Amino acid sequence: APVTPTLLYLDDITVSFDGFRALNSLSLAIDHAEMRAIIGPNGAGKTTMMDVITGKTRPDQGTALFEGSHDLTVLDEAAIAELGIGRKFQTPTVFEMHSVEDNLLLAIKDKRGPFLTLFSRRTTLERERIEVLLERIRLTAHRYRKAGELSHGQKQWLEIGMLLAQEPKLLLIDEPAAGMTDQETADTAELLRDIAKTKAVVVVEHDMTFVRDLNVKVTCLHDGSVLAEGSLDAVSANERVVEVYLGR
Ligand code: ADP
Repeated sequence: APVTPTLLYLDDITVSFDGFRALNSLSLAIDHAEMRAIIGPNGAGKTTMMDVITGKTRPDQGTALFEGSHDLTVLDEAAIAELGIGRKFQTPTVFEMHSVEDNLLLAIKDKRGPFLTLFSRRTTLERERIEVLLERIRLTAHRYRKAGELSHGQKQWLEIGMLLAQEPKLLLIDEPAAGMTDQETADTAELLRDIAKTKAVVVVEHDMTFVRDLNVKVTCLHDGSVLAEGSLDAVSANERVVEVYLGR
C-alpha cells in the first residue's frame, strides 16, 4: 500500500539573523489531522518557525517539506498559501463594517476581489458553505451582525472561519486564547479540537490551561530547537523544561 508522507516535515532547520541562531537545527513532524501545541519561553524561536513554514523567512539550512514533495524552502508565501497552509496571527483582521456572513463570503471568494464578491448574488453552494462555517465557528446566531460589534473571542472565531473558508490542510494559529474570557478560552479549545478532526493544526500558546484543554501532544522549543516533546504532563515534568521556564 502507498505510504502517505508526513503532512509537514521539518528537519535540521537553521535560521540566523546577523550570526544569531533564531532556529538551531530544528526538527518537527506534523501528521495529517494532527493538532500540536508549541510552547517555549520568549525568544525560543516559535515565530521564526512559523515564518519558515509560511515562506516568510528562508532557512540557511535544512529540509521543510509539505505532503512529502513540496519544498517550502524555495516556494514564496503566495505559493505556500496556495498549497493549503493558512496562518492566523494574534490580532484578528476581520472587515469590521461588514456582517459576519459577508466576512465569510469574502474569504470564500478571496480571488474574485471584494467588490464583485459583495455585489453579486450568492450561489447555492456558497450559501451552503457559509451555513457550515457559521455552525463550526459558533456564530450562526450572529450572522447578520457587523464583525466590528463582536466580542474579542467571537472575532477570533470569525477569523478562524475565514481561514477555513480557504480550505487549508494545515492551520497555523498564534495564541488564539490571548485576551479571551475563561468561557471563550474553553470554547476555543473545543472549536480547535473539532477542526483538528479533519485538518492539521499547529497552535503556538502560552496559556497552559488552554494547552491542557486542547489535550494534544506538546512540543517545547528553546534556543531554536526542540527541548522536549510529549504530553503536557510529561513535558511540564521534564527537568530541562522546568529549568528553562524558571530561568535557572
Ligand atoms: P518566539 O516567537 O519564541 O518568542 P522568535 O522566533 O520571535 O521567538 O525569536 C527567536 C529569536 O530570534 C529571538 O532572540 C529574537 O530576538 C530573534 N529574532 C527574531 N526575528 C529576528 C530578526 N528579524 N532579526 C534579528 N533577530 C531576530
